[in-house]
Amino acid sequence: MQKAYVLLSGGQDSFVCLIWALKKFDAVETVSIHYGQRHGVELRYAGLIAKHFGVKHTLYDIDRFITSMADSTLLHEGNHNESHPQAANLPASFVPNRNGIFLTVISNHAFRNNEKRINLVIGTCETDFSGYPDCRDTYIKAKALELSLGLDRPVNIYTPLMWKNKAQTFQMADNAGKLPELIDLTLTCYSAIEKVNAWGRGCGECPACKLREKGFNEYLASKQ
Ligand code: ZN
Repeated sequence: MQKAYVLLSGGQDSFVCLIWALKKFDAVETVSIHYGQRHGVELRYAGLIAKHFGVKHTLYDIDRFITSMADSTLLHEGNHNESHPQAANLPASFVPNRNGIFLTVISNHAFRNNEKRINLVIGTCETDFSGYPDCRDTYIKAKALELSLGLDRPVNIYTPLMWKNKAQTFQMADNAGKLPELIDLTLTCYSAIEKVNAWGRGCGECPACKLREKGFNEYLASKQ
């Protein structure tokens, strides 16, 4: 039996990853991580998503661990649209090594469950991304090798959205008949505004909402 562990943030991308994993694997668990994000509201949505699909959901809290060592407007006050203080080419929302730490946590969870072959699913994406270096395909492949060596067993990291744009992730949800759930049960907004729009919940102003709205409109246009 093949089991997968999906990193569930409560946002659109991890929702679509869960749908993908439920179809591909015999069993699925979800893991969420509280890393000190200014708005923890999305984690409540992660719980709602897991409940809706009837999958086990575990939450790990590494709040102080990350907030004490990283600058990011997702963790501390600041303007998401400005540059990161330590990397002028990256947005202020960048959390250094976030995906690497998340993948380490979720692989430890699978290891503790005594998985002999560890399958992880994460919604990182190179197409629409904000330039975060740890979203790149080469990084994820290197991370899988690192975890395999560190745990001395096969670790596969699946990234079903790596080459998809936002319009295509809407399409994946729609193809699975889950577009209404995607709109209602996910929150991607940096400001954690829960207002429901045609394209999903959010403020409509932050970079995450703008990307999502643009993707939704592109998807609607492609259907016509
Ligand atoms: Zn927003």
